[in-house]
Amino acid sequence: MSQHFLLSAKARTLSVRKVMELTDDQAFHLFKEVRWGSGDNVACPICGTVGKHYFISTRQQWRCKDCGHTFSVTSGTIFAFHKLPLRVYLAAIAIYTNAVKGLSALQLSRDLGVQYKTAFVLGVCRT
Ligand SMILES: [Zn+2]
Repeated sequence: MSQHFLLSAKARTLSVRKVMELTDDQAFHLFKEVRWGSGDNVACPICGTVGKHYFISTRQQWRCKDCGHTFSVTSGTIFAFHKLPLRVYLAAIAIYTNAVKGLSALQLSRDLGVQYKTAFVLGVCRT
């Protein structure tokens, strides 16, 4: 008899524990890798040019070589204009994806210590 997928090691790739052990820099690189892959190429959210854009390390943002637009790892996503650390958003993703039977925004807000509206706006929960 085969093991249920949710009991396998493959289902445990992103845990809240792993996320909370990340540094801010590691969280940034994880976000970047999930969005654009492990290489140096990133895509401008305005003109769509994929390449090695100018990286502004002090701001952790890129400036597009073609259109000059400045963008971050969260530009064009639901996490744009974020105020919380990236780790909190990764934790929200981990909590939500690991909740097999769904998750309420109220529970997510209590787990993360953020307001209900913040958890709701993340767009990943039902009320
Ligand atoms: Zn551009």
